[in-house]
Amino acid sequence: MKSLLIHDLTGLEKYAGTCGMPERSEEVDFLYPVLANDYYLSLISPDDPDDPIRKQVFPDPRELDDESSSYDPLAENEQMPVPRLIHRFDDRAVLLATSKCAMHCRFCFRKRFWTKDQESLQDISDSELENIVNYLKATPSVQEILISGGDPLMLPFGRLKKIIESVKSVESVLTVRLGTRIPVVMPHLVTDELAQYLGQVDGLWVLTHFNHSKEVTQQSVGACRKLIRNGVPVLNQTVLLKGVNDTPQEMEKLFRTLISHRIKPHYMFHVDPVRGVKHFATGVDRGLDILRYFRKRLSSIAIPTFAIDLPEGGGKVHLQADYFKDGGYPDLHEKKIISYYPELDRSE
Ligand SMILES: *Cc1c(COP(=O)(O)O)cnc(C)c1O
Ligand code: SF4
Repeated sequence: MKSLLIHDLTGLEKYAGTCGMPERSEEVDFLYPVLANDYYLSLISPDDPDDPIRKQVFPDPRELDDESSSYDPLAENEQMPVPRLIHRFDDRAVLLATSKCAMHCRFCFRKRFWTKDQESLQDISDSELENIVNYLKATPSVQEILISGGDPLMLPFGRLKKIIESVKSVESVLTVRLGTRIPVVMPHLVTDELAQYLGQVDGLWVLTHFNHSKEVTQQSVGACRKLIRNGVPVLNQTVLLKGVNDTPQEMEKLFRTLISHRIKPHYMFHVDPVRGVKHFATGVDRGLDILRYFRKRLSSIAIPTFAIDLPEGGGKVHLQADYFKDGGYPDLHEKKIISYYPELDRSE
């Protein structure tokens, strides 16, 4: 099976129906080029202008109105001890393997890799990889490598294998996490050969990226199932996106469906303050409201950690609704406050 890549607005309209392209789309496409494929576009309901899949791939004029924020708000470029390795937390680091992706998600936090007026990144070279391995050998506190990008599953199989084997050759690296949206947006790239290989790498986890229950299809589930059957644990991260998935009901549906396929919802992120994505931001309170709704309704294995990633490289913060009030905690139905070890913890 082959996939047809769509790089232009005419292609988008041809595959995704009749809703019409918003004004100034050419301008947006010029700065933040469109990229999609026939499979992902086939998930769009052609006559629905508010379709959640459409909003993730179609350019929006509001992308041009947000001049305030930076392309690298998390200051990733300043936390690289060697090129292409972001080392912020003691025990883990991110390796940027490629800048290629199967699609351009409009809300992407590493949009700088595919924005026209920014410097793009070639696939990682042998010498860059060697420098990273040398750094890791000299820095044994790093025990986990997150292979990211771009999307590492866009690399040719042999190249990906080389990267995984290189980082695993460092004795102190015990765990490898592959961050990829391929199972969701181009599932046929998860071949039996790839899944079997990943399954026999000790300590390897896949972190995929479903944002909406419409993305959970026979094909995307099939790709994840291949990984799981070969012994690869599959976790999911979701970005909370205004107008796409920011209702408790949609999130419940997405996470419930994911656990029924043994995919563990791991993270729900607020949109990072990256230039051109502000119209997707909901505010942190929205995320907390969703967690409060889940408290009564949703199995703990379906509930992800809600997190924000602070600007200036300040790191992630895991957020929880604070339930403590009037000396205790509200019961499930919020009918009464029940105190818990009042003599040990907080007093009035
Ligand atoms: C998110 C991130 C990680 C991974 O952190 P977890 O909380 O373990 O998911 C590692 N390094 C950087 C730079 C990150 O942004
Ligand atoms: S797949 Fe990930 S890195 Fe690639 S455009 Fe989408 S959000 Fe960005």
